Amino acid sequence: KRTQHYKKMSRKNKPESEMMGSAYDPHLSEGSAKVPIFQTSTFVFKNAEEGKAHFHIAYGLREKAKDESMSLAYSRINNPNAEIAEDRLKLWDKAEACAIFQSGMAAITTTLLELTRPNTLILHSSPLYGGTDHFIEQVLPKYNIKSMYFDSFDSIDSIIEKKEKKFPGIEVSLVYIESPANPTNSIVDIKKCREITDHYSSKEKVYLAIDNTFMGPIFSQPIDFGADVVLYSATKYIGGHSDLVAGAACGSKEVISRLKTMRVFMGNMASPFTSWLILRSLETLKIRMEKSAKNADKIAKILNKHPKISKVHFLGLIDKLSKEYKVYKEQYSSNGGMISFDIKGGEKEAFKFLDSLKLVKLAVSLGGTESLACHPYSMTHADVSIETKNKISMGESLVRLSIGIEDPDDLIYDINKALDSV
Ligand code: PLP
Repeated sequence: KRTQHYKKMSRKNKPESEMMGSAYDPHLSEGSAKVPIFQTSTFVFKNAEEGKAHFHIAYGLREKAKDESMSLAYSRINNPNAEIAEDRLKLWDKAEACAIFQSGMAAITTTLLELTRPNTLILHSSPLYGGTDHFIEQVLPKYNIKSMYFDSFDSIDSIIEKKEKKFPGIEVSLVYIESPANPTNSIVDIKKCREITDHYSSKEKVYLAIDNTFMGPIFSQPIDFGADVVLYSATKYIGGHSDLVAGAACGSKEVISRLKTMRVFMGNMASPFTSWLILRSLETLKIRMEKSAKNADKIAKILNKHPKISKVHFLGLIDKLSKEYKVYKEQYSSNGGMISFDIKGGEKEAFKFLDSLKLVKLAVSLGGTESLACHPYSMTHADVSIETKNKISMGESLVRLSIGIEDPDDLIYDINKALDSV
């Protein structure tokens, strides 16, 4: 009877149910209910043949046989904690594969280096996280990889026309987007970016990569809209406790295996302990993100009416008649937990507010259990050009809040008190 009942109920579990047990067999680890930390740099081969097989496959000297599984050799290449974390994380994005990295920047830079080529062009949305912006603007030009930003709500024809005018004849190698973008919460139409990517894919495949840190993987699955690579700073919601630095990339087996090979040589694999912390965090990811989004919704509505605030940038407050609203509703299943707002005045008023907070901590980063506040203009995005800052309306009056899972009324009290002091 039980079997029949089970059969009737048989269906795919939701990712949140798989976070506690999938990709791990306790009986291979002394019955340990939780995944142990495999705190080792190297792994003992059963025999020399196994060692040889590992390296011949790893260096591409021969193909892996159909049912051959790859042994573990060295923790920079692979380790059990990283592998289990990857097998679980990919479930949220419905991706074939996932690669985790020592930081979000490691995931982003490895992707950029692997998927672009010298003498080509990256088309990207704007704004981008300050570190990504720096890498694209300051580092990649050394390898003659150029970049051009586009406004996601411009027509495809006008984006193509702009590219041909500014960079005639230069091949596009990658379309890179961040949505919602840090720090303004502006969103990008992923389907439209897919069309742009396809337009340039006639000779070589052009990939579409998206930084999904703000809303993923719970409220946004960009692969459904045509993204090839979904990137994360796992330091944020995925890690969720502000106690680790990590990154991740999800996508097809083909693209993730390229990133994993590059990861071996960049040497930026996540450590066993970091991967183990991610496993711990994945178990509560959904409830943490849901609570923070619920808190943020309540807080944003109050900020929106506050006389000392001129504008609140929050997905839940996008004008229902705007083009953005349609994309927001299509791509995202929540308003998320990130709010930014312009305080009336400038740096002086923003700093007074930040210095007056008591419960909310004055710190960069986001997506943790605790609420954090920062001043993007002078902190995370200090290095972004004034031209870009003006274009995306990131002024000195902008304050960014990452809403945590505290009691919302305590947060509202703290924020109101700090605003009173301005
Ligand atoms: N992407 C976004 C949207 C971020 O906010 C950050 C960091 O703040 C990063 C990437 C970089 O991640 P990490 O600090 O883990 O290297």
